[in-house]
Amino acid sequence: MPMTRISLLGIPHDDNSSFAKGAALAPAHIRPELFCDAYSMWSETGFDLTDRLVDHGDIRFDAATDPWDLIEGEVGRVLELGDPLICLGGDHAISWPVLRAVRRRHPSLTILHIDAHPDMYEAYQGNPRSHTSPFARIMEERLADRLIQVGLRTVNDHHRDQFDRFGVEVIEAARFSDDLRLDLTTPVYISMDLDGLDPAFAPGVSHREPGGLTTRQVINLIQSINQPIVAADIVELNPARDIAGLTAGVAAKLLKEIAGMMVKTRG
Ligand code: MN
Ligand code: MN
Repeated sequence: MPMTRISLLGIPHDDNSSFAKGAALAPAHIRPELFCDAYSMWSETGFDLTDRLVDHGDIRFDAATDPWDLIEGEVGRVLELGDPLICLGGDHAISWPVLRAVRRRHPSLTILHIDAHPDMYEAYQGNPRSHTSPFARIMEERLADRLIQVGLRTVNDHHRDQFDRFGVEVIEAARFSDDLRLDLTTPVYISMDLDGLDPAFAPGVSHREPGGLTTRQVINLIQSINQPIVAADIVELNPARDIAGLTAGVAAKLLKEIAGMMVKTRG
């Protein structure tokens, strides 16, 4: 059997951030941490990722093309290879067009969404593409069969209405436990907003929300997945808010552990 490879694709786009720009610079800060000789390229699950990660570079945005069409098209093109894909955001808005492309290949799909925020506003500042709304759009377009949100700590009444409307399964940070095991029955997409982590671990985000998960808790949750992980995004690193590259390092670590589980769950 040929060695499983994992595609990487940078999506340096933050036009839909509501508060602070900067996430577009994230891929350029994650890659040096990922490929730095200071760190091991082995996943904790026992795979050497050195020759498995295939970097497809960054999407190049231009004024002539709708960025959503470009993202959907480029993600679809990389997925044609048949390998699992990890996208480096960018802000969380990019998950909507990414999932349009992923869904075409996966008629059965569960999203595991780790975040401080539900990102489910029906509308926010008049922008349907806002990074506060991608999961409302994703569920409207039925781009997944299930949406499981973990780590939330900013839920309001509107969000609860949205949870009911779309049948979202929610594990707020207040209800998180170390022995949480998700009952998964389909291929999985991981959407990793770095502000799902506590700012003590990941300060380099635009919206720091105390009371979040530890890096270890997130890794353990990812390592508990027992279905194929077919694609993922790691979003909302804002290098301008980071401290000594700490959050970029966490992003690179999570990337390696997601990749390691992609290999493992492929068998
Ligand atoms: Mn988010
Ligand atoms: Mn968030």
